[in-house]
Amino acid sequence: MFNRHIHLSMGKVLPIASKTDFFLALAMTVRDSLMESWLKTSVTYAEVDPRRGYYLSMEYLMGRTLHNAIGNLGLNKEIQEALHQLGLRMEALRECERDAGLGNGGLGRLAACLMDSCATMQMPVTGYGLRYEYGIFQQEINEHGAQVELPDDWLAKGNPWEIHRPDFLQQVQFYGRVEVHGGRRVWVDTQTLDAVPYDVPVPGYHNATINTVRLWAAQSNCKFQFDQFQAGNYIEAVLKRNQAESLCRCLYPNDALMRGKELRLKQEYLLVSASLQVTLFLATKAPHASASASSGHSLYVASQVVIQLNDTHPALAVPELMRLLLDTEDMPWDQAWAITQKCCAYTNHTLLPEALERWSVELLHHVLPRHLEIIYEINQRFLDGPVRKKFGADDHKRRELSIVEEQPERVVNMAKLCVVACFAVNGVAAIHSRLLKSDTFAAYMPLFESKFTNKTNGVTPRRWLLHANPDLSDLISKHIGTEWPTHLDQLEKLNEFVEDEALLRELLAIKRRAKKSFAAFIRGKWGIDIHHGHLFDFQVKRIHEYKRQLLNLLHVIHLYLTIKDGGFVAKRVVFIGGKAAPGYARAKTIIQLINNVARVINADPDTNDVLKLVFLRNYDVTLTEKLLPAADLCQQISTAGKEASGTSNMKFQLNGVPIVGTIDGANVEILDRVGEDAFFRFGHTVEELQELRHSYNPAQLVEEQPTLRRVLRLIESGTFHPPGDEAGGQAFEDLARDLRERDEYFLVADFESYCATQARVAQLHGADPLKWARLMLRNIACGGFFSSDRTIRDYNKDIWHLPTNIVPRVRLEQATF
Ligand SMILES: *Cc1c(COP(=O)(O)O)cnc(C)c1O
Repeated sequence: MFNRHIHLSMGKVLPIASKTDFFLALAMTVRDSLMESWLKTSVTYAEVDPRRGYYLSMEYLMGRTLHNAIGNLGLNKEIQEALHQLGLRMEALRECERDAGLGNGGLGRLAACLMDSCATMQMPVTGYGLRYEYGIFQQEINEHGAQVELPDDWLAKGNPWEIHRPDFLQQVQFYGRVEVHGGRRVWVDTQTLDAVPYDVPVPGYHNATINTVRLWAAQSNCKFQFDQFQAGNYIEAVLKRNQAESLCRCLYPNDALMRGKELRLKQEYLLVSASLQVTLFLATKAPHASASASSGHSLYVASQVVIQLNDTHPALAVPELMRLLLDTEDMPWDQAWAITQKCCAYTNHTLLPEALERWSVELLHHVLPRHLEIIYEINQRFLDGPVRKKFGADDHKRRELSIVEEQPERVVNMAKLCVVACFAVNGVAAIHSRLLKSDTFAAYMPLFESKFTNKTNGVTPRRWLLHANPDLSDLISKHIGTEWPTHLDQLEKLNEFVEDEALLRELLAIKRRAKKSFAAFIRGKWGIDIHHGHLFDFQVKRIHEYKRQLLNLLHVIHLYLTIKDGGFVAKRVVFIGGKAAPGYARAKTIIQLINNVARVINADPDTNDVLKLVFLRNYDVTLTEKLLPAADLCQQISTAGKEASGTSNMKFQLNGVPIVGTIDGANVEILDRVGEDAFFRFGHTVEELQELRHSYNPAQLVEEQPTLRRVLRLIESGTFHPPGDEAGGQAFEDLARDLRERDEYFLVADFESYCATQARVAQLHGADPLKWARLMLRNIACGGFFSSDRTIRDYNKDIWHLPTNIVPRVRLEQATF
């Protein structure tokens, strides 16, 4: 099959085929092996017509597909051998694949992990998203140590995994106005775009289920431009098509930050409108639906469809579903509302106020006038109905609960819309879900408390352990058998081996090998020399003030000063990796400071055989897979109450990497399971910070901490200023001053506790390898809960109620596979 693809698809003979040709031929070979199961899965869903789930997400951070697909198909050995006969190495070909970086961070990666689990558990779930031509930007670092963003043209050499389906296109409208025709409201004079789907396979693990993620691309609509072509503006009309097609060109690179851009609103609407139109179409032409009357079709939708909104980004699903039912299906309001409420469920991902989506009424009126009307009516009926019933004519309550807010300008609060319209609302870790109820949505509790649940995030153990860390996986399988990748609770059996010295020594040996090879990788890529015997300490995630990469850096500078003073510091390499949103100046300053501290420390002969600081450029899914096996320590040090869940903590834990962390997000549940011995906790709790906030005086606290004072002074002294970049140096000083004056994220308050905990970590790691190996084993053994299979089971039990194990069983006609 591989040779055929080299010849027939790539049009090459072996001697002149490039590495990319080999990769593409291999990918197409693997795709061929998926195709029969993929078709069978689709046909089975169509014939069995089960209740189905639709996951709507603006982001899917999929990473590479090849290795995961081969692993899930169980074809590793066969392919490796076949390639070997041709003198090729699979590891080398893998490196040709570009990451599908259609997401920013945790939210997008969660979508990818959940899709993997749905396929593995054989559940009829389809993901809908956008096919950005440019995913998350490529990060480079310039000569001043600052981040530079470059376009991620991931499709340049073709994408072997997607299937373009122009015959399934959906028309999406924008702009125009609402008119009343014979008592009915009609959206007229709109501009139309075509949404064209590209289908991507999501293979389950060692089963025949292949689910689909369907990504929409914008395409110009011929009919709409008819007038211009008629008028003879041929060239101009053709050029205009380009503009329309830019809609899905680029992913917005903001993580946990809302920017009210018109283009983004249109992206969100395109996703929602195209996906819901197909969903309604599928549901109404399903075998069971066609037996009932036409209004029965739509009622059928309510029982057969559940739509999960990944944050509020697809919240326009609420007014769009209403519009489709009211205006195109001619349904009365109450019926349409009942169906919408029954279908839609909402996942909240953040407590940060700057991340909550609020669209200006003016913009909505311009782009989606009919939807604005519908939102107003939803709000009016909500305030006049349930709110009046519960609170009477309390004006304060009405204002507080209103979906439409009168701030400096009038805006629609999309999270409030979701809370009012959806039948389920969930947070993504226990503490986060609790804070949603007590804080963010507290005002809604008297009305809707029963809608609120928790669904603690998880990660797929296939990609993040089985495929990313084969040596550790083999060791695990040798001791507890091979069922754990789909029954992750079985990792608990490893607890029986805590005193098994041979196993512990093997754990350490695997780690040593992984560190050696990661050190070689770093040396090869960036020419930085690191020693694999040192403690490898990682903080990898988006750069954000609340995630406190700066706290990590303050500690590194403290270690540096200690060594300079002749004090003892355990040997350590601190790796920090992550991208900053291009418009987030403070986050970019933090990156620049990290790089300049690294420049100074790594070049200092007094310190550089003890302490190294490495900024990992262009952190992405693939780099995460490479570094996990090599990590000794994972930093999850967000300000308590700010991190909704975190998922990189789970990836590290699953790979046996102890965490130094705050009592925040999923850390709470990890600590619960592994215990205080195997989790290095530090810092103030949410409650303590709430108490502290009133009287917080960071300037005074700095004065009381000589170590921190020295660290800040060193930053202010100009030691780390980038040569030739005065503005950069000024920004560093501003950073230090802000810590004294404001310190919104309580770095100063947590510094001492953080340093003490890090010292304890280093002491433990250096003193007793076997004891450390026990910590590693304990982390792995307690990782079962954080499988995204468990997360999906929770969603399904409480929210989705979908059948599982829908095994593809259809016989395809004229099967030629
Ligand atoms: C898992 C993952 C994240 C999420 O990391 P957090 O530490 O939970 O913020 C972000 N980016 C990538 C590439 C990931 O794999």
